[in-house]
Amino acid sequence: MKKLFISADLEGTAGVTHWDETEQGKLLYPHFARQMTREVVAACEGALAAGYDDVLVKDAHDSGRNIDPGALPMEARIFRAWSRHPYSMMFGLDDSFDGVVFTGYHSAAGTNASPLAHTMNRQNNWVKINGEIAAELMINSLTAAYIGVPVYCVCGDKGLCEWIKSVNPNIETVAVSEGTGNGSLSIHPDLAVKRIRETVEKAVQKDGKDCMFPLPEHFHVEINFREHYRAYDGGFYPGATQVDEKTVAFDADDWLDVLKFIHWVL
Ligand SMILES: [Zn+2]
Repeated sequence: MKKLFISADLEGTAGVTHWDETEQGKLLYPHFARQMTREVVAACEGALAAGYDDVLVKDAHDSGRNIDPGALPMEARIFRAWSRHPYSMMFGLDDSFDGVVFTGYHSAAGTNASPLAHTMNRQNNWVKINGEIAAELMINSLTAAYIGVPVYCVCGDKGLCEWIKSVNPNIETVAVSEGTGNGSLSIHPDLAVKRIRETVEKAVQKDGKDCMFPLPEHFHVEINFREHYRAYDGGFYPGATQVDEKTVAFDADDWLDVLKFIHWVL
């Protein structure tokens, strides 16, 4: 029984370039939610073609209710909305899975690689882990590493794909768009689907040991908030320190302790 976990976001889906396109109720949202679904379906089909039996999809954007479940292949299961478990966008992953694929992912707050660059929400300027700007992809890849599951493929904006390659070049990527300032250049949505299907099929057959995201022994986390009062508030989290008007720091050896800090403070 081979099992794949897919964590799916929307901001790094082909063509998406404005917040309006990511919010339910806005004119163009249905179009891009459909493309998000197509990209997830492509990843599922790639895994099934590679001999996987089960795919668990976590709809991990905003409400967690974006993907059309009926469009997924029957081998796929989907977790919609939010459990409130600190695994957050990775909820449902455990060590019974053979690997993880990310679709629709986007660059971090504090980078110039996506017009929608942000980390978990829009209340911070940046999140740093051990001194490095942390994207949601870094946080979620560390969760995969903590559980002991490899990351096989990342689909999203070019800056994010280049970043994960710099950490582990064995992880496959599909760059569907490239952000510049407040805009982005995207490949055709059908080509994005084709490349995701082909790349995931190839990626999930790799040796998992080659595709592990490195897990440090200690974590020093800093969050720089847009508003001073969020840093004031976060400074009261047990073990956290307010280091300046807008920044809170937290140290831990156990990644789950970091996830709990992120869950309550970020
Ligand atoms: Zn999102």
